Amino acid sequence: MFELAKQRLESVFKHIEVDEEVMCRLSVAKRSYIASIPVRMDSGELQIFTGYRVQYDDTRGPTKGGIRYHPRVNLDEVTSLSFWMTVKCAVAGLPFGGAKGGVTVNPKELSKLELERLSRGYIRAFSDILGESRDIPAPDVYTNATIMGWMADEYSVMYRRQEPGMITGKPLHLGGSAGREAATGQGALYALAEYGRRHGWDVSTVTVAVQGFGNAGFHFARLAKRMGFRVVAVSDSQGAIYSNSGLDIEDIYRYKMEEDKLASVYYDGSACNTLDYEELTNDELLELPVDVLVLAALENQITQLNAHQIKATTILEIANGPVTPPADEILAENGIEVIPDVLVNAGGVIVSYFEWVQNKAGFYWEEKEVNTKLKKIMKVESNAVFDLALSHECSLRTAAYIHGIERLAGAIGQRGNQKYFKS
Ligand code: NAD
Repeated sequence: MFELAKQRLESVFKHIEVDEEVMCRLSVAKRSYIASIPVRMDSGELQIFTGYRVQYDDTRGPTKGGIRYHPRVNLDEVTSLSFWMTVKCAVAGLPFGGAKGGVTVNPKELSKLELERLSRGYIRAFSDILGESRDIPAPDVYTNATIMGWMADEYSVMYRRQEPGMITGKPLHLGGSAGREAATGQGALYALAEYGRRHGWDVSTVTVAVQGFGNAGFHFARLAKRMGFRVVAVSDSQGAIYSNSGLDIEDIYRYKMEEDKLASVYYDGSACNTLDYEELTNDELLELPVDVLVLAALENQITQLNAHQIKATTILEIANGPVTPPADEILAENGIEVIPDVLVNAGGVIVSYFEWVQNKAGFYWEEKEVNTKLKKIMKVESNAVFDLALSHECSLRTAAYIHGIERLAGAIGQRGNQKYFKS
């Protein structure tokens, strides 16, 4: 996966002149840590989990990136995700480098108390390398505000001081930011709206299908419907639902939440159990002839195996790495434009940045102020990427990488001493 992720860099270096040393620096992670995390299970048995933290690059600031709980988490995946975080923070112009963490675990098999012990164990394992000026985690797949709250608490207990800025995505009462929960979906919608504005779209005629009805996908679908888009299909890991006249997103979410009453911290209900909508398979959702296909689940969803079947005209990548490089080429040949992850899903880290700023200042903003500031950044950076794609005659993905790598190269050049040797 990391080798595939790095292939994106090569296409960028064809378009811009960057010092060889920048390429060297950006093709390897700066630090990678693996730790065993012992957890006392409710049965009394001791189970050891493997945890990861990769700090890919910290030239532009302390590293930033989420923690993922998933059975498939491994060093290769965490490294790829940390690389994307590095590029994403640079694309968004944030004063952060990139990192990522994870634990190889199926969190749905753990009780709430086991999950809490695991989360506190993660902080004990990696506390030496975390901190508000070093490396700042956040939620990712199957981690959430509750888990961030446990982690912040463990850190403050260990160091006997309050340092809320050491982690973001916290619950509101523990120093979280207003607007963080919906930020990724909201930011993605701002990017899509800007794209649509430049293409002269009338949003009421634009049909949208959303793969992934989790935190990012749900908020995107809810806000897109509110903006006037026709959201005709959504899916989760168990299947998809479709309605040509448009889905009632809030209603589907309410249904999921009702089912959730029985669960601990995760949504156990599936959107596809909702009545009155046509059921589809996950593959069928991906192949719908819609205007915008939104990928908000996991990586590697469109590959060379299914890229030829895609009929949408535009793909919006909310998930990280949902389209592989070979699939990118097939989509481009078929005239399908991909608005890339490193731009589209930056809303989450942008509001995490706002949370960090508010924690450091001890002064908190209202949701309206958060969204106004988020919109401004998404608008400016989206237009910068769209303009670069036109001037370099390249894909939006390459343009986004050009935008981020230019900022990274500037920082690497200004920090290093190679200029003395080269001149
Ligand atoms: P989540 O766990 O809340 O939701 C993931 C959703 O995807 C769930 O509904 C799950 O059922 C569904 N899913 C899994 N496999 C699927 C499949 N094969 N087909 C259809 N649906 C499937 O996670 P999230 O926080 O919404 O994150 C989703 C993606 O967005 C991830 O790639 C994540 O890295 C990325 N992302 C999230 C944020 C954020 O703030 N939440 C920020 C940046 C990027």
